[in-house]
Formats: sequence, structure tokens, C-alpha cells
Amino acid sequence: MVGALNADLGIRVDRLPAPGETVAGRDVHVLPGGKASNQAVAAARLGGSVRLVGAVGDDENGRMLREHSAAAGVDVSFVAVLPEVPTGQAIIPVDDDGENAIILVPGANGAITPAGIPAEAYVDAAVVCLSLEVPMAVVQRAAARALMAGARVVLNPSPFQPLPPSLLDATDVLIVNELEAGQLLGVPVDLDSGGVEALCSALAPHGITRLVVTRGAAGAVVIDGDEVTQLAATRVDAVDTTGAGDAFTGAVAVGLAEGRSLAEAAAEASVVAAFSATRRGAQPSYPTAAELAEFRAERA
Ligand code: ATP
Repeated sequence: MVGALNADLGIRVDRLPAPGETVAGRDVHVLPGGKASNQAVAAARLGGSVRLVGAVGDDENGRMLREHSAAAGVDVSFVAVLPEVPTGQAIIPVDDDGENAIILVPGANGAITPAGIPAEAYVDAAVVCLSLEVPMAVVQRAAARALMAGARVVLNPSPFQPLPPSLLDATDVLIVNELEAGQLLGVPVDLDSGGVEALCSALAPHGITRLVVTRGAAGAVVIDGDEVTQLAATRVDAVDTTGAGDAFTGAVAVGLAEGRSLAEAAAEASVVAAFSATRRGAQPSYPTAAELAEFRAERA
């Protein structure tokens, strides 16, 4: 997993402040986050052999993130500690309806350079997972290195930004939510009426024939060549869907690395993501393989 590690500073508020307004906050808590960090922890909890590639500052948040990832079984030896910048932070007020606003402070994530990641980071990787909370030049270099190492590239273009053609050319599997699918096409996408075909046509020139569009509680659409699978979400009483998308991506990466088809990997991932929605937080909500087996057995 190549990308960002963030300390998520969550704050409960009665309502999100309007511009210029001051509101009272409560229940301030710091949790490990960042897309690559989340995806790495999700994959490692499931038993995947995971290397996390990124950077933190030489500070308390950086130590917390490294320790938390390592405790989940992630190899953090390629998480650089940059002395001159703080660890990335996401400041996230959440109101009583669960609505949030996010201020992302890139810190060390924004200071990674393409040359700053050693080529050894990619050795023996079956799958390299990329997300976009680090500079695009780093993502592009990582994709090129992944190909050189014989790994398959899974791209989760979030937060969305225009994608260089060379990055798309290097991508084996694209994982987007519905909003990102629309941003990719430049128009809102209707998956029930022509959206799948429009996405496939836009991606075909880049050789991408495998993609997943996630749809929150409505499940996901999996496209693998001519095969289109509508995946229903596992029904749960969701308490917090934060990081469900990262749980999904991490689990897909594990499935692909284990040689499963995209449809099989995504079906498993949707159970993992649903499990994560039944617990608070992102990383603390991700199941181990044993917890997942129990969750399945309860539903069988
Ligand atoms: P986020 O940015 O919140 O992490 P996302 O927008 O990237 O998420 P979603 O489409 O919201 O991704 O969710 C990813 C997957 O998680 C869905 O395809 C689904 O399988 C599962 N999921 C999300 N929300 C729920 C829910 N309420 N109940 C069951 N499964 C869910």
C-alpha cells in the first residue's frame, strides 16, 4: 500500500460551523487514519502480507501511526520518518446527524518525493495499491515501479483529481465510488442506465477492463471484461461507515494477491466493509479473519 498516513482528529459538534462562526466541540479523539494506512491495516488484519510505503513526521502522531500499523501486522519499514514536517492530519468535525467536513493537512504525506521511495519497497509485491493523498508524481512513480516489479496495480483514485494517462495505462484494477466514477467521466454516472457502458468505453483506451464501483449501502458493481456482477451489500445496522471504502479496497487487494477473481475478491470485500460499518472508527472497525468467519457464521 503506497500513500498517506494521517492522524484523524475527530470532534463532535451539534452542527458544522458556517463561515465565520464558532461552535462548541466535544469528545475530541485522535485515531489512526489516512487511506493507505487504513487499507494496509484492513488487509493485514485479514492475514495479508502487507508493506506500507509512505511518510510521517518525527512526532507523537507519527509514532502512534507506525505503532498501530505494526501492531496489526503491517511491515512499516518503508514508512519514512521526515524530521522537518509534521505527520499528516485530518481534522474532522462530525455533527449529530453524522454529517462531517474534513480539513486535510498533508504534512509528511505531501513531502514524499518520487526518489524518496527505495525500489526495494516493491520487491516481491503481488499487488501494489495506490490512492491519491500523496503527490501525483509519487503515485505515478509507484505505478511504474510496480510494473517493473511484476506487480498488479490497484488504483483507488481518492480524493479524486484528474488522472494522468500513464497512470491509467499502468492500472489493472480501478476501485471508485459512484461520485468518483462521475468525476472520472466528467458527468454524473447512473449505473442503472448506461453508466457501466460509459465507464468501460472511457477506460478501454487505457487497457482497463477490470473495475469496481462501490455504492455504499447499495453494494457495488464489479466489471471484469464482459462479466458485470451486481453485488448486494451485506445488511447490517450501520453505526459508522467511516473507512468502509478503505476496508473494501484492502480486502480486494488481499483477494487478488491470493489469486481470486475480481468478483470473488469484491464479494469477500463487501462483507469486510459491512463488518467495519458495525463498529466506530476506521481502523479500529476492521475485522480479523477469525472475526469475519464468526460474522459470516452468525448470518448463515
Ligand atoms: P468511505 O469514503 O466512507 O470510506 P467510499 O465512498 O469509498 O467510503 P462506499 O461506497 O461508501 O465507499 O462503501 C464501500 C463498500 O462498503 C460498499 O460497496 C459496501 O460493500 C460497503 N458498505 C458501505 N456502507 C455500507 C452499509 N451501510 N451497509 C453495508 N455495507 C456497506
